Amino acid sequence: MLFVYMGSIMDFVKKVNTTQKEIKMFVLVVNAGSSSLKYQLFDMENKVVMAKGLCERIGIDGKLKHQTTGMEKVEKSIPMPTHAQAVSALVDSLTDKEYGCISDMSQISAVGHRVVHGGPWLTKSVLVNDAVIADLEKCCDIAPLHTVPHLLGIRGCMQVMPKTPQVLVIDTAFHQTMPDYAYMYPIPYELYEKYKVRRYGFHGTSHRYVSGKAIELLGKKAEDTRIVTCHLGNGSSISAVKGGKIIDTSMGFTPLEGVIMGSRCGAVDPAIIPFLMEKEGIPVSEMGSWMNKKCGFLGVSGVSSDMREITAAIGKGNDRARLAYDILCYQIKKYIGSYTAAMGGLDCIVFTAGIGENTPRLREDSLSDMEFFGIKVDKAKNNEKNPCLISADDSRVKVFVIPTNEELVIACDTDEIVSSL
Ligand code: ADP
Repeated sequence: MLFVYMGSIMDFVKKVNTTQKEIKMFVLVVNAGSSSLKYQLFDMENKVVMAKGLCERIGIDGKLKHQTTGMEKVEKSIPMPTHAQAVSALVDSLTDKEYGCISDMSQISAVGHRVVHGGPWLTKSVLVNDAVIADLEKCCDIAPLHTVPHLLGIRGCMQVMPKTPQVLVIDTAFHQTMPDYAYMYPIPYELYEKYKVRRYGFHGTSHRYVSGKAIELLGKKAEDTRIVTCHLGNGSSISAVKGGKIIDTSMGFTPLEGVIMGSRCGAVDPAIIPFLMEKEGIPVSEMGSWMNKKCGFLGVSGVSSDMREITAAIGKGNDRARLAYDILCYQIKKYIGSYTAAMGGLDCIVFTAGIGENTPRLREDSLSDMEFFGIKVDKAKNNEKNPCLISADDSRVKVFVIPTNEELVIACDTDEIVSSL
C-alpha cells in the first residue's frame, strides 16, 4: 500500500515537473528591418537562447534560416509578401515538431522589439499600446529608415500573436541622461523645438550592456566609475558613461555622426555637404544615401566597407585602406581624450561589436602612446582568442573586450515589464 502511495507521489512530482516544463515561458526578441527580420527565443529562467533565425527577402520572395540551439540549421524558401507572413513563418519554425523547440505559440509570454529611434517621445522600454504606437509613428518623421520597418514588424507580431504582450526596447533610451549642453546642437532654438533636432545617440542597448558588465568587472559602485565604451561594428559609436549613466555619445540626431564607419562618413564639416552637392550635382534625395552608403572605409579605401577586407588590403600594401584604418584609430583616441576630460577622469575602456571584439591590432593601435594617460595595453592578453582584460597590470585604466548582447537586454527588459503586469 505504502509502495503504491509512494509511487503515486513520485508520479505526481514527475507530473508537476512535466507540467512546469510544459508551461515554461519564453521571450521572443525581434529586430525588424525593411526586408528582413531577425529573431531569438530566450528561456528567461536560464537566460539562454533556445532558437534563433532570420527571415530574409520579405516582400520579394521569402527565405527563412532557423536554428534551434544544439540542432542543425534549417533553410527554407517560404513566401513572405508581408512582415506578418514572416512572423507566421518564424512561429511555424519555433513550433515545428522536427526542428522547433516549443509546442505551442502560447508558450511565448511576450515579444520584445528592438527599436532604433524613440525620439523625444519614447525614452525607456515600454509595453505597446495605442499611445505608444502613436509615439512611434511620430518617429517616422525623424528616422523613417528604421521606424517604418519596425512598425511593420510590431504590427505583424500583433496580428499573428494578438494575445501576446509586445514590448519596445529602444536604442536611444540609455542616452536620455545626457545633459542639454551635450545633446543640443548650436542651431536656432525654435528649430530644435519644432523638429526635435538634437543628439539622441544610438546603440544604447549595447552601451548599457557592456558598461554594466564593466562595472561588475571593476568591482566598484556604479557611481564611482568613469567608462568609455567603444561599440565598433558596421555602425560605430563611442560613449562616455559616468556613474553608470551616459553623459555624451558620438552618434547624433541620426546614426551618421561620430567616427568613420563601414560606409558612413561620420562627422564632417557640414559645409562640405552643400559644396559637394553643388559640384557633383547630387540632389537632396540622394545625399542621405550618399553619406550612408558611399563614404566611410568604403569611400576612403575604395576597397570595402568591411574591416576584414580593409585589414587584408593593408596586408597587401594598400595605402588607402591603411588611411581608412588610421582615421578610425585616431578618432577613437580623440574621443577617449575628450570624454576623459568631460568625465573628469577615466577608469575603464570597453571595446565591443564586430570590429571591437575581433580586431586586436586596432585596439592596440588606437590606444598606442597613451601611457601618459594611464592606458597601457598588454599585447599578449590583447591577442588571446577570447580576451577580456587586455590592459597591463600596471595600467591605471582598465581595458576590457566585452562581447555585446543587445538581444539579452531586450529579453530581460521585456520579461521584467511583462512580469509586473
Ligand atoms: P553591425 O553594426 O552590422 O551589427 P557588426 O557588429 O557585426 O556590425 O560588425 C561588423 C564589422 O565587424 C565588419 O567591419 C566586420 O569586418 C567586422 N568583423 C566581424 N568579425 C570580424 C573578425 N573576425 N575579424 C575582423 N573584423 C571582424
